[in-house]
Amino acid sequence: MIILNRSGIPDHLLYPVVELAGIAVHARTDGVVVRVSQSYILCWPYGIAYRDSKYPRLCTLDEYTLQRACLPCPLDGGTIKVTTVGPRACHRHPYGAQRMDWPAYCWMFTELVAHEWFHVREFQDERQGVQYSWAAAGLGGRRPRWETRPEEIRAQLAVERARLCDYVDLVQAVNRLVVWFKALVLTP
Ligand SMILES: [Zn+2]
Repeated sequence: MIILNRSGIPDHLLYPVVELAGIAVHARTDGVVVRVSQSYILCWPYGIAYRDSKYPRLCTLDEYTLQRACLPCPLDGGTIKVTTVGPRACHRHPYGAQRMDWPAYCWMFTELVAHEWFHVREFQDERQGVQYSWAAAGLGGRRPRWETRPEEIRAQLAVERARLCDYVDLVQAVNRLVVWFKALVLTP
């Protein structure tokens, strides 16, 4: 797994949350690229998962370069892109940031990451021959509403079933993130 951390959250706080959320939904993390960027506004986190790598330049690095950089090869395990609130939004909107419910926010972020990991896990399963039903585009060319797509219903159930708050390591990692966000708001 490669984490492209553009979130403004320190690596040592972000990495455990991202990795443990993936493990909680039984995704294989090797070969997956996770990009975390930060938004300009205070908002709920949002994300998307792709079947293949959205970073072709990373994938085409030759084996020697990958080994030297300790990167797994090849990087075709899927891609997750997540956008989170970070220092940028907190500093632009200090009053709003003070009023944010940081524990709720950090758990929302963690659940979102686990949700996207679950999509990646299904892509991985499909490569092994498992078949899932996916929402197909309808007559108008649009896929059905998000909340009625079978893959989204499966992902929501999977995250609920994973009971993230029972994973001691993950809970500790999320708590550290909460402490960091609160301190960030106090010291703009
Ligand atoms: Zn989804």
